[in-house]
Amino acid sequence: MYTIKNDYIDKNKYSRPGKKLSSISGIVIHWTKNWDKGATALANRNYFNNLDVINRNRIEEGEDPIFASAHEIIDRKQIVQAIPLDEVAYHLSYDDTLHYNPNIVTKFGVPNYNFLAIEVVPINALGEMHKKTYMNLLYRTYDLLRFADITTKRLFLHNDFTGKNCHKFFVEFPEKWQEFKQTLHNWFINER
Ligand SMILES: [Zn+2]
Repeated sequence: MYTIKNDYIDKNKYSRPGKKLSSISGIVIHWTKNWDKGATALANRNYFNNLDVINRNRIEEGEDPIFASAHEIIDRKQIVQAIPLDEVAYHLSYDDTLHYNPNIVTKFGVPNYNFLAIEVVPINALGEMHKKTYMNLLYRTYDLLRFADITTKRLFLHNDFTGKNCHKFFVEFPEKWQEFKQTLHNWFINER
């Protein structure tokens, strides 16, 4: 099993608005796009927490602020829960309306208000995961599906909503994404 640490980021308008989720219609998997040595789940959580400061500088420089967060971030050592599971995270753009696959919106409503987000730390530019990271993701996704009382049909990639190449490895190797979902599906069946 995995180690999970609750380390909630401070409420702020860029990464933890403190709004409640309407429901949990599904789980969305992302990659952090950072495979540097220090790019751990905790470092990613700290980045979300620091967006307030980062954006103050960006705005001073005349740049647009960044809105970003996820409920949980997973690396090979642990899972960090950065946002409580009943609150909104900004993982599918922040304005809640732009650039979504309209079929998904019709089916599930406004994505940020209806989905849990998991960020996964890769080991390289392909988006491949360390074996332990992969297992953490597998076990954690299983538990979150059970928590939300939904099936593997409600598992999505960021790519399904906006066409973004995220989670890169699963987008570019769709057979691996199928295999991931099939493994979870089999676990559910064996449990019955
Ligand atoms: Zn993403």
